[in-house]
Amino acid sequence: MPTRTLLRRIHSTRQQIPLLPTRSLFSLFKRAPSKPESKPILSQDDLFHPFSVSPFPALVARGEAIKSLAPCPICASHHARTKAQPRAVAFECPDCGWPTHCTEEHWRADKDHSKYCSRLREVNEDEHDLRSGRRLREFELPGLQDTEAAISFSNWDVFWYTRNFPSMDAERSRRHASKLLTYPITIGSVMHQYSPLTLGNQRLTPEGSRSLAALRLTLHGPTGTPETEEASIDKPQMRIFILGARAESSLPPHVWEQLTLLFPAALFHLYFIGPQVSLPKPPAPTTGDSPSEAASQTTSTSSDPQPEAESSASKPDEEKPIYLPNVYEPPTPAPISRHKRTRSSIERYGVPSYTVPYTPQLTITGMQCNYHEVHGQFQDTFDPYTDLFFMFSPGFGFPSPTSTSDLTGEPLLQVASPTEWGLVLPLLLATKCPIFVTGFSPTDVERDVKSLSLVPGVAGEFDWVITPGENAFGSEKWEVADFDPRVMVKTNWGIWAIRGKRRDVRERRSAF
Ligand SMILES: [Zn+2]
Ligand SMILES: [Zn+2]
Repeated sequence: MPTRTLLRRIHSTRQQIPLLPTRSLFSLFKRAPSKPESKPILSQDDLFHPFSVSPFPALVARGEAIKSLAPCPICASHHARTKAQPRAVAFECPDCGWPTHCTEEHWRADKDHSKYCSRLREVNEDEHDLRSGRRLREFELPGLQDTEAAISFSNWDVFWYTRNFPSMDAERSRRHASKLLTYPITIGSVMHQYSPLTLGNQRLTPEGSRSLAALRLTLHGPTGTPETEEASIDKPQMRIFILGARAESSLPPHVWEQLTLLFPAALFHLYFIGPQVSLPKPPAPTTGDSPSEAASQTTSTSSDPQPEAESSASKPDEEKPIYLPNVYEPPTPAPISRHKRTRSSIERYGVPSYTVPYTPQLTITGMQCNYHEVHGQFQDTFDPYTDLFFMFSPGFGFPSPTSTSDLTGEPLLQVASPTEWGLVLPLLLATKCPIFVTGFSPTDVERDVKSLSLVPGVAGEFDWVITPGENAFGSEKWEVADFDPRVMVKTNWGIWAIRGKRRDVRERRSAF
């Protein structure tokens, strides 16, 4: 495969690899059912099934998708010599159940497959376990934190323990739960006063310490004040702008609520902004028309403890694709469930958008557009005490699929491309609010960080807030690329952060 094609493929894969694979899977993440436990379809000692004979149509479909996309690695290694097109994978490895080679002969000839086989088997079993019908206790999320008990952010284990999750005694449960929670808890763990990223371990810089001190003043209140809901009454909202959002914008709101429960005395407004932000389903048709819908929205009260008006709940799944391959230009995630307080925000922001006041502590807005289209609406309001940006695997260092250099005709890196981040980063740096970035592997983080030095208006214009390194709250689950099952990454493996450089001493406020 020519390098360019490979890069494009990897680039495209970046956009889907960190995602939860299919919409239908999200139904697993709904609140814990109160109905009695039903008998599992698969028992815990019966989780391994080659994809082609899986009892679950979505997994059969995934195997088919891989067969149509992935070249046989042995054929591909001969390709350079013979120029013959590699054949697609068709043979399923009996040990991991994935289609891995064109034939059994090439499977036997591949000395490298043993490096991947056990991980692939683990993913195969995880996927069957998710659908097995067992009670998924690891998705039963805790409510309010006991005010006397401090949360520890050293790692997932002590976090779950101190946050009163059901015990996670199986590696499989840990993988499922870390994948579900990596987005909200990554954000919470860097912002929290007990963050594992500190000056002491040199993950936090002195400049970064000032940025976080400002945010923590709003999040926790001055030292010694009680962190209670009452203490939040006249606080400003923390605004978290999640740019280039994809899968994270379609996580159910009760999963995002886990972020707010880490900070009992803070109010949050999450903004998902990006061309692939998931928007709500259209309102369910009613016997009347819009007035009745408006009435039903206003009659809902904020005292509802479990606001889950799932318009999807009564609908069959037939409208959903069985399996969406995680390659090429992925479509925008399917519409998210419409919450009963969901309302359109198109008049307010001028782009397809919605807002959900989910709990008194949490408001969520989604906007389906490029960030630079709406920056002007916020630019005079940014405040380093309340505002921050998050970008989950933005792919700065990947080539743009659409923009090329006028000089060389080569694709521009996304960090410099006008269709991706080229217009955005200078705007973010000008706000002086911190910008947090994750990556799915050491290589991915390094590629994104290096790309910053190549862009005028970015290079030399920022201070480090958090130095690049591993994220204690990344997903522990391997995500496998359908175009090549040897490619595996972990969502939010690493994290780093920067902030626009402050030069003008006269403009400094006390904390900056
Ligand atoms: Zn082959
Ligand atoms: Zn195998």
